[in-house]
Amino acid sequence: MSVVFLNQKFIPSEEAKISPMDRGFLFGDGVYEVLPSYDGEIIGFDLHIDRLKTNMSAVGISLSWTHQKWLEICKTLIKKNGFGSLGVYLHVSRGPEPVRSHSYADGIDPTVFVFSFKIPPEQIVCKSQIVPYKVSTSLDLRWSRCQIKATSLLGNVMHLQQGQQNGFNETLLFNDKDELREGSTCNVYIVKNGVVITPPLDNHILPGITRCILLDLLLKDGSIGVEERIISKEEVFSATEVWITSSSKGVIPVVEVDGKLINDGEVGDIWLLAQKIYSAGKKNY
Ligand code: PMP
Repeated sequence: MSVVFLNQKFIPSEEAKISPMDRGFLFGDGVYEVLPSYDGEIIGFDLHIDRLKTNMSAVGISLSWTHQKWLEICKTLIKKNGFGSLGVYLHVSRGPEPVRSHSYADGIDPTVFVFSFKIPPEQIVCKSQIVPYKVSTSLDLRWSRCQIKATSLLGNVMHLQQGQQNGFNETLLFNDKDELREGSTCNVYIVKNGVVITPPLDNHILPGITRCILLDLLLKDGSIGVEERIISKEEVFSATEVWITSSSKGVIPVVEVDGKLINDGEVGDIWLLAQKIYSAGKKNY
């Protein structure tokens, strides 16, 4: 039985209940974070809490908990759930109101829900052991505020579900000019002439913490070039490598896009080098 944190208390998951009048339930009116942890060590804790605070203020949810308070909750939850490789999910919804109305009153008490879930063990730095992804592509049909990590994820849910129903691990999303944005649950990269390229951040892309850590580590290491620029769909198909990143998955190579092989279907050398650099450095964040 797992332990969760709901409104200031650690309780068995079976006992966790929220009001159906919670605006998180009725409107998806909330924000969230997922932090990876390995044997109690959380990767990118401050970066995740900074993003949570930025997102709460973007949607006007006031909750002035310190980094220290969030850290204590995360650490206690990880301990109560037996350590190992765990994703820690932090959810802050605007909270319950007596009447359902799109607009909201001031001063509602936010609902804070935290739980943990198993994630794959720390990533393998080995081409033959990593399980690469096969992905599909789609026109991005989500809203224009994807930089906010909002709990209203119906667009992302529909994109991922459609891809998975057709046998793909992920769906890469493009704008109406066929320019790459991100995946339905991840950031995306291509490798061209030995350089790692990823789309620049804007309101259509989540500023991923894994993206932030990976780019910083690659820049500091200096052995692989890094560029943030617009990537065309054609460049994705002709890339020597394609990767995706997220907190719960790490850095995953992609070997097939819409049925077309990337790098003859083999995991690439630049991925292996980047994976070495990421695995060695990520615990410093
Ligand atoms: N983009 C989207 C749409 C996501 O949902 C996620 C996280 N699952 C990411 C990018 C990657 O973000 P992070 O590295 O912070 O997990």
